Amino acid sequence: MRLPSMQFTAPRSARRAGLRALLLSSLLAGRALAQSDAGETAARPGAGCPAGSTEVRPGACRAPQLPPPSIVDYRPRSTLITARHDVRRAKYPVIDFHGHPEDRLRSADALAAMVRSLDSINVRLMLSADNMSGQALASTVALVNGTPYKDRVRVLAGINFRDVGPGWAEKAVAQLEADVAAGAVGVGEISKGFGLSIRKPDGSRLHIDDPALDPIWDACARLRLPVFIHTADPEEFFRPLDYANERWLEQALFPYRHYAPERYPSFEDLLTERDNLFRRHPKTTFVTAHMGWQANDLARLGTLLDELPNVYTEIGAVLYDIGRQPRGAHDFFVKYQDRVLFGKDSFQPSEYPYYWRVLETRDEYFDYYRGYHAFWKLYGIDLPDTVLQKVYFRNALRITPRLPKTGWPE
Ligand SMILES: [Zn+2]
Repeated sequence: MRLPSMQFTAPRSARRAGLRALLLSSLLAGRALAQSDAGETAARPGAGCPAGSTEVRPGACRAPQLPPPSIVDYRPRSTLITARHDVRRAKYPVIDFHGHPEDRLRSADALAAMVRSLDSINVRLMLSADNMSGQALASTVALVNGTPYKDRVRVLAGINFRDVGPGWAEKAVAQLEADVAAGAVGVGEISKGFGLSIRKPDGSRLHIDDPALDPIWDACARLRLPVFIHTADPEEFFRPLDYANERWLEQALFPYRHYAPERYPSFEDLLTERDNLFRRHPKTTFVTAHMGWQANDLARLGTLLDELPNVYTEIGAVLYDIGRQPRGAHDFFVKYQDRVLFGKDSFQPSEYPYYWRVLETRDEYFDYYRGYHAFWKLYGIDLPDTVLQKVYFRNALRITPRLPKTGWPE
């Protein structure tokens, strides 16, 4: 591009002022250079810069001249100006496969208030994954069925994993059959404690693939109940809690989320046991919650889905991993469009629109709703409408025969 000619016709006074500014800035630059050379230390080979300093040029480290804020207080404002499309309501009606309505199902008023929230974000049906069983499940189903909202909630049944040993399976299967008769449509959410911490009467850890449990998984296949299962937690929770740990702040805020290797099985052991379970029961439908905590390694999750057609996955609480790899996540959702279910986990109506924005738009570099989960921004993955419909409701309807089947888009 040609420079406009007016640049060369500025008045003499302006030119003189420009010259002075140029001189001043080169003087300051010279001083800064001298200071910087004095204040810099060399990076240690293979170990990077010493604590409290950062690399400013190859091999040269520098410490801030002002006291640095802690990571809790540093909240830079993005200066990026780009198209923004907030999505308050999902484009199609949604089944939340990973709901925790808890007390909201204990009174008709609380349920009515929850339904108003669900309407505002276009969630048509919530599955309660609160592990209910027996009388609690029966009275919850009765309460829901006594309101105008009986097709807005379905309940998953819980399995009691205490005292696994002789006689356990017969009792557990009988209870599950009773819960299905009372209205349960699936099983879950089987908690992360299963595998991590639940013990057998002899004190040994109950492994996820323990053969004593086989009859309950076979019963789920026979009763056509999808099994919604949460195994392990983010892999960083199992790793050393040093300053390279991506989830350092979260574990500092919630220390119980750290799984020290002296006390807990490893992430890999838990996934191996989980996959053995899925493999040994090919007629049982399993939905691995939180994308199996493998949303940061979609190729590996894809390998699991390729190998085991009875396995599905759900996206609750891992939006930070989906939204930081918009191209890879887009391709994963398209390739596995028949295997991914929407779920949210913790019920915070204001947080659902972040999911809609990631799944439906091409927006760039926007905030996630939990700063302590992720130190990065999110991007929209721009799913096609057919894929959105499958993730939002069609897949859940297909794998859960007892859901209300009418009223969904063609
Ligand atoms: Zn959950």
